[in-house]
Amino acid sequence: MSRSSNRKKIVVVGAGPAGIIFSITAGKLGHEVTLLEARDRIGGKIVYGSIPAFKRPLRSLLSYYEYLLESSSIDLRLNHKASISELSELSPDVVVVATGGKVRPLSICGSAVDPLVALENPLLVGDSVLIVGAGMVGCELAWYLSDIGRKVYLTDILSEEELMQKEHYFNRLILLEKVKERVEGIYLKRKISVKENAGGYFVNVGETSFEVQTVVNATGFEPENDFVSSLKETFSNVMVVGDAKKVGTIYDAVQDAYMKAMTLRG
Ligand SMILES: Cc1cc2nc3c(=O)[nH]c(=O)nc-3n(C[C@H](O)[C@H](O)[C@H](O)COP(=O)(O)OP(=O)(O)OC[C@H]3O[C@@H](n4cnc5c(N)ncnc54)[C@H](O)[C@@H]3O)c2cc1C
Repeated sequence: MSRSSNRKKIVVVGAGPAGIIFSITAGKLGHEVTLLEARDRIGGKIVYGSIPAFKRPLRSLLSYYEYLLESSSIDLRLNHKASISELSELSPDVVVVATGGKVRPLSICGSAVDPLVALENPLLVGDSVLIVGAGMVGCELAWYLSDIGRKVYLTDILSEEELMQKEHYFNRLILLEKVKERVEGIYLKRKISVKENAGGYFVNVGETSFEVQTVVNATGFEPENDFVSSLKETFSNVMVVGDAKKVGTIYDAVQDAYMKAMTLRG
């Protein structure tokens, strides 16, 4: 890769796949790159996605990213939640926002648990759980929690035919089959109501009702726009990559990051 004649100071916020690939590419172009990550490890949502045993292959991607960063000159700073004031002190020419997406609010249950929290700490879920949202994340979580002995109920406003339409045909088929084999109940295209009661929730799904200890909000992720807006007020060159721009897949995030980093060639 030929190096840029105009070396820039770049700060990348977020060491998920998008932030990592942006940093590596910009580093190869000869720019000075600092990569800030809020957590104590790199990988972003891949860390959570690779927790279930059936997603183990994703762990080798994490190892590959670790290798890429270790063998580069990127200044990686873990346990570093970037703030506007800290970024200002670094006086970057370019700020890259690769902070991923946040869970969409769930109007029927404000106290619902984040699916990433449930994956990382299944003890918090208790013995029984209602997962709202039967997309890829909701279905994988249902499969995982069932396999470790939790009583799982799954619901979605969509019908089975409408679920996970963007997923690969066979992945979708296998995932739905595994979930149906395992969960206590699956309620699709159904309006539900959730009421908090002593130490749990009372759930009504029309013809049936049941109690669970926890509700998980797996209705999806959306970009975190507030952080981007305040950065744009302070810095003249802000780039937004990966899920922080548009929530998608690892491939989408990596491709977006690579293409945007390559614009710094000149
Ligand atoms: C459970 C689960 C399973 C998945 N499985 C798959 C799969 O099998 N295949 C697939 O293609 N996609 C999968 N995805 C989607 C995929 O993981 C994401 O699309 C991808 O990780 C997005 O990459 P990203 O770098 O844009 O964001 P993220 O991976 O979300 O990374 C963002 C990073 O930014 C950090 N950060 C946030 N704010 C700050 C801040 N202020 N300062 C510093 N750091 C910050 C976060 O800690 C995080 O490390 C899955 C997603 C989930 C939730």
